[in-house]
Amino acid sequence: MSATFLGMPGNFPKNAAEAVQNSQLRFNLRKATHTIRDKRAAVVGELPDWQELRAAGKAIKDHTLRHLDRYLLQLEEAVTRAGGTVHWARDAAEANRIVADLVKATGETEVVKVKSMATQEIGLNEALAKEGVTAYETDLAELIVQLGDDFPSHILVPAIHRNRSEIREIFLREMPDAPAGLSDDPAALAEAARLHLRERFLRSKVAISGANFMIAETGTLVVLESEGNGRMCLTLPRTLISVVGIEKLLPTWRDLEVFLQLLPRSSTGERMNPYTSMWTGSVEGQDFHLVLLDNGRTGVLADEVGRQALRCIRCSACLNVCPVYERAGGHAYGSVYPGPIGAILTPQLRGMSSDLDASLPFASSLCGACYDVCPVAIDIPEVLVDLRAKAPHGAAERAGMKAAGWVLNSERRLGAAQRLASRMRRFVPKRRLPGPLAAWTDTRDVPDIPEESFRDWWERNERA
Ligand code: SF4
Repeated sequence: MSATFLGMPGNFPKNAAEAVQNSQLRFNLRKATHTIRDKRAAVVGELPDWQELRAAGKAIKDHTLRHLDRYLLQLEEAVTRAGGTVHWARDAAEANRIVADLVKATGETEVVKVKSMATQEIGLNEALAKEGVTAYETDLAELIVQLGDDFPSHILVPAIHRNRSEIREIFLREMPDAPAGLSDDPAALAEAARLHLRERFLRSKVAISGANFMIAETGTLVVLESEGNGRMCLTLPRTLISVVGIEKLLPTWRDLEVFLQLLPRSSTGERMNPYTSMWTGSVEGQDFHLVLLDNGRTGVLADEVGRQALRCIRCSACLNVCPVYERAGGHAYGSVYPGPIGAILTPQLRGMSSDLDASLPFASSLCGACYDVCPVAIDIPEVLVDLRAKAPHGAAERAGMKAAGWVLNSERRLGAAQRLASRMRRFVPKRRLPGPLAAWTDTRDVPDIPEESFRDWWERNERA
């Protein structure tokens, strides 16, 4: 996974501590996440078979991941048969190289883009800029982020951290064709963006997209969106390049039925999304290139516990219910994937060699709300705990855990340790532990050590 997005040093606790000082950010996040989560709960509640749908989504994804090699080859064959060209990219650098070469081969220096997590993950816009190609985001929220020289902070609503008056200021400052008297009325802001983008749609000869799903049996790609910008990008330009993670595969057309019910309800809280675009290979007047992106995914697939993260359909429901995300915001995660899914996906894709990535599995209260809402039943707390064990720990912590394991593994040793602790209780500070242990008591009190352990009390009373 590219580190291009990482404009942020430090680690999650440090970034989150800074973010929670920003009351405007906390207000924006709370309002937006609560609105979407309430809408989701209402439309999910309408379906009596939601749990069955969820189980079906999980089963289809697990089956696909188990046979990913076979289905990817089937997809390649179907796309090629339909006149498209399939490219395989091992990592971000390779994917960016392929896309840059394809764009340069057209002679164009501008491309329009449909919102795509995969292209953000590989830092495509920055890579294209180095090659003299300007990428224009056409999703409204992505446009706000791009014009504001900002980072996305939510999977579905990348500009969730901005309120409408901030958006108005960005438009007036960065959009040359914004009307002088632009108000912060949402309809006026949307209209200004629409007029700004229309000219780009009509002018651009190359478009870049991702895809929500790819169907192996037919070679069809599927994009779900709400604004119609995707439909314009996918149909108007003469060259279409789609960069898609290899896990976005579904075996058959029939499987799509399940996900077209799960995704809109879980993401925007709608029964159906307004625009569903599907295309298969090249069509008359348009060349199609599909770049299949690995970028760490086969490594994730090899991990028995962590591989379930590849079931993710990027609905963002887990972000909207997460108490940590609601307070810290998306930027604190330092990745294109924030919130609970980011806390398990980023360390697996990027590894845990940086302070930031090693801290992400700890960015959770383990309350389990993310698991409850996940439409493909990813057990995020289970993966978090597994990653915590794999994260690098200091020598003192490792030694402490080893000693604790030795004590806890024996009833006799545990009883002796409890009796020793009871005898030493008057020497234990009441509020703050000394030295390096102080970090533990910065946010909690030292628990009272009882005069007698429950084990001893039980034995004494049983004997009596
Ligand atoms: S982990 Fe589940 S809830 Fe979170 S974005 Fe992915 S599919 Fe949605």
